Amino acid sequence: MSARSCHMTQRTLVLLKPDAVRRGLIGEIIGRIEAKAGWTIAALELRTLGLETLEQHYGEHRGKPFYEPLMAFMSSGPVVALVVEGERVIEGVRQLAGPTDPIAAAPGSVRGDFGTIVRENLIHASDSEESAIRELKIFFPGLS
Ligand code: UDP
Repeated sequence: MSARSCHMTQRTLVLLKPDAVRRGLIGEIIGRIEAKAGWTIAALELRTLGLETLEQHYGEHRGKPFYEPLMAFMSSGPVVALVVEGERVIEGVRQLAGPTDPIAAAPGSVRGDFGTIVRENLIHASDSEESAIRELKIFFPGLS
């Protein structure tokens, strides 16, 4: 069996960032996730993130020039945190989001359709199985 035809049910952490919430894009983005065959939302919460949570989440970027502005942006209003479950969902949601820089993101992706600024790029999605496990523990520690 090739890697592509293997069944790979996974879970990923998705954050609709404060710009997505402020701009009224929650329904639009969740709609795109729900439209994918076989993907389900396993948890969902509107939440304003504290600096402690954000430091855990974005710790790998500490010390970079964009780190402090990113912390300020991510704590500037509520986010929607979701757990999405399904076939190859980690790669799939990254694809649906598009690359980090919205100007480099193709139309049809969330960042390509709605974003212009690198920092305010609307959506976070775990980038690997390892990241997903780590991030899900931070945001949804009670999830079995
Ligand atoms: N970011 C930024 N400036 C940069 C690179 C990243 O403000 O030059 C922000 C942006 O919001 C991005 C987040 O930091 O989504 C995390 O960066 P990462 O490289 O992990 O990108 P992602 O995995 O979110 O595409």
